[in-house]
Parts: sequence; C-alpha cells; structure tokens
Amino acid sequence: MTIQSNDRYQQRQQKIKQQVDSRVAAATEDRGLLIICTGNGKGKSTAAFGTVTRAVGHGQKAAVTQFIKGTWECGERNLLSRNGVEFQVMATGFTWDTQDKESDTLAAQEVWQHSKRMLSDPSLDLVVLDEITYMITYGYIVLNELIDALQQRPSGQTVIITGRGCHRNLIEMADTVTEMRSVKHAFEHGLQARKGIDW
Ligand code: ATP
Ligand code: MG
Repeated sequence: MTIQSNDRYQQRQQKIKQQVDSRVAAATEDRGLLIICTGNGKGKSTAAFGTVTRAVGHGQKAAVTQFIKGTWECGERNLLSRNGVEFQVMATGFTWDTQDKESDTLAAQEVWQHSKRMLSDPSLDLVVLDEITYMITYGYIVLNELIDALQQRPSGQTVIITGRGCHRNLIEMADTVTEMRSVKHAFEHGLQARKGIDW
C-alpha cells in the first residue's frame, strides 16, 4: 500500500469509527427487549434457543414455553433443561389433524398460564415463547392478553417470540424483528428432517 492510499484508508476508517461511536453513544436506553423471529425460512427457533444459550452462558436465568412441538423431541430442550432452564410444553391433545378447537384451546391455555407466570417473574432475564404466533392466529390465545402480559413484564426482561405469520400489532410493539426468508429448504427436494439439525 502506498503512503497516500494508507492515509486515505486511515481517514476512511476514522470516519467510520466516528459514526459508530456516535451511534453507540446515542443508544442510552437500557431495558429488556421484545424480539420476534418470523417468516417462512428455517432458523426461527434455532435463533431463540441460541439466545437462551448465550444468556445462560452469562449466568442469566431463562425460561421457555413451546406451543406446538411439545411432544416432539427437541435437542435444545434436552440440553438446556439440564442447565436450569424451565421448559413448559404443550400437552398431547394438540394436533393439527383433528383441529378440535376445544381441546386445542385447553392445551394452549395450560401453557399460556405458565407463560404468564414467566412474564411476571422478575428473576427471569429471558423468556422464549416458541411458536406462539399460531396460537394467536387460531384464536387459542387472545392477542390482547399477550400484549398486556408483554407490556406489564419486568422492565429488565427480554422476550423472544417465534413463529410464522406474526400478528402486525406484535411486530409494531417489538424492538427487533427478523424475518427469516426461505431461499430453499432441503425438505422441498425430498430430504428428511434430521435429528440434531431440524429438532
Ligand atoms: P428451526 O427449528 O430449524 O429453527 P424454524 O423454527 O424456523 O426452524 P418452524 O416453522 O418452526 O421453523 O418449523 C420447524 C421445522 O420445519 C424444522 O424441522 C425446520 O427444519 C422445518 N422448516 C423450517 N423452514 C422450512 C421450510 N421453509 N420448508 C420446509 N420445512 C421447514
Ligand atoms: Mg420453530
């Protein structure tokens, strides 16, 4: 690199540093976040459990409710529940096949009661509501009840919501929203779901 181009490089880096520094200085608010991972692409629950791992690694306290695949095996649940993370999962009785509204609502409501307890527990740094978006879509949990519980939660608590088709009111109130967009998925071209990769 010539002396002149090195100067230019340093000037440019200096400018970038100033911009980043001023943005860091402007971020003064310190409170728990509402994070939403939605969209049709793979990675929503993985991202939520990754964040639980991150929090637990710092000695923080996290809890998870799962609204669909409770009876399914889940590698993260096996690992994290051994490391002090409470999991509450939907009981059997919930199936997409029967669409028995009454028993589905009961199953969802049971886990929702646990979620509400977690959302009012100031000792929890992080609460994950995995796949809760479908409960809203199907009317098993009332949207305004979820919004109220989120608004009234302890100020230091972060909540992560996952699931496709997240309601726009939740998107609006969230601090961070990531939409996973599927470019392609192995399942579409005949590859089976894999243990350790898909669950
Ligand atoms: P993951 O749990 O792998 O992070 P996810 O939470 O984003 O996935 P879900 O909608 O909860 O996705 O679906 C869970 C299961 O469906 C996983 O086994 C995942 O691999 C699979 N899956 C995710 N996206 C797609 C897709 N676009 N097409 C087919 N299967 C998918
Ligand atoms: Mg998921």
